Amino acid sequence: MSRKKFVLLVEPKKSKKYHTPYPPLGLLKLVSFHKRKGDTVKLVNGLCEDGFKPDVVYITSLFTYAWEPVHEVIHYYSNKYKKARVIVGGIYATLCPDHLFETFKDRIEIYKGVMREVENLLPDYSLVPDWKASILFSSRGCIRNCEFCSVCVLEPEFKPKKSVKNLIYPGHKKVIFWDNNFLASPYWMDILEEVEELELEVDFNQGLDARLFTEETVLRLKRIRIPLIRLAYDTKGIREPLKRAVRLLKKAGFRGRKIIVYCLYNFSDSPEDFLERIRELLDWGVVAYPMRYEPLEPRPKNSYVSPNWTPEELEMIAKGRRVIGYGGAFPPYEGLKRKILGARNFQKAFSLRPPHREETQDKA
Ligand code: SF4
Repeated sequence: MSRKKFVLLVEPKKSKKYHTPYPPLGLLKLVSFHKRKGDTVKLVNGLCEDGFKPDVVYITSLFTYAWEPVHEVIHYYSNKYKKARVIVGGIYATLCPDHLFETFKDRIEIYKGVMREVENLLPDYSLVPDWKASILFSSRGCIRNCEFCSVCVLEPEFKPKKSVKNLIYPGHKKVIFWDNNFLASPYWMDILEEVEELELEVDFNQGLDARLFTEETVLRLKRIRIPLIRLAYDTKGIREPLKRAVRLLKKAGFRGRKIIVYCLYNFSDSPEDFLERIRELLDWGVVAYPMRYEPLEPRPKNSYVSPNWTPEELEMIAKGRRVIGYGGAFPPYEGLKRKILGARNFQKAFSLRPPHREETQDKA
């Protein structure tokens, strides 16, 4: 019989540089995996001093720009527990293994992609008792291959699940789907029936693919508890299916202010192209949420400037989101619509002047 192990699971210290509102899903699944084997597990955030001497240390990682806090915990734990295996996984580890290897060489093992052994396990949410929602994937991968997206590296194969009931934690009243393309699954209706039956609130956190919307989609969405619908308008190429999806949603009774559309910028678009998409969204009466493109290599957040943009123009959007936007988004408030739809160009649309009294009142 193999000896029971001591397993340490490390989430880099949460900070401005490593920010996520979510618990470390992969680590919570690893907790379940090792507990089943009878191992002793401990989950920590950042650097932790105590007498726990692990045989294995798992370290997770987030976006590529958040690599420094990951390096900090690797340095710390690989020096502290020289005999332990140190395994680093997650998004940054999968996308930038060479960057990790340059620094740590064979002091660590790099795990790329989804860990198959734990994929279908219920995460051990008992370690995060304040967290009240089950996060799950009803599918991995995506049927599309958008140029700006890392999913084709993180989850190269599209793999749908037939059921997610086993991934919902008893007592949770909400589920958060992290699927990249929920509607692409041939089982999406079965999955929706499961959450409908359990009367759970649903959040499609990564957005739904407007190109896959039909009248049936909207009818099914209408049957579940879904406070927000998230869509994307990343390129002008999806204008028509997006417009149709918005029309179907509104016809079915979803309020425009509850439809959030992510708008990628700073990729191959230009400021005027971005403005046109924002204008259309406001005109359709939905909320436009700008999303700045970040390259996949490790570099400080917000440091990349695409050839069609200038740092000043990017800054105008950042300030605009803070000053004339609301929660980082541009909702279809009348004052905001007048400003953006009536502007001659990008500069005018996002130039900042104190909002008129009536614009402020729109938000109330
Ligand atoms: S549809 Fe979404 S998840 Fe799929 S490749 Fe495009 S951006 Fe990525």
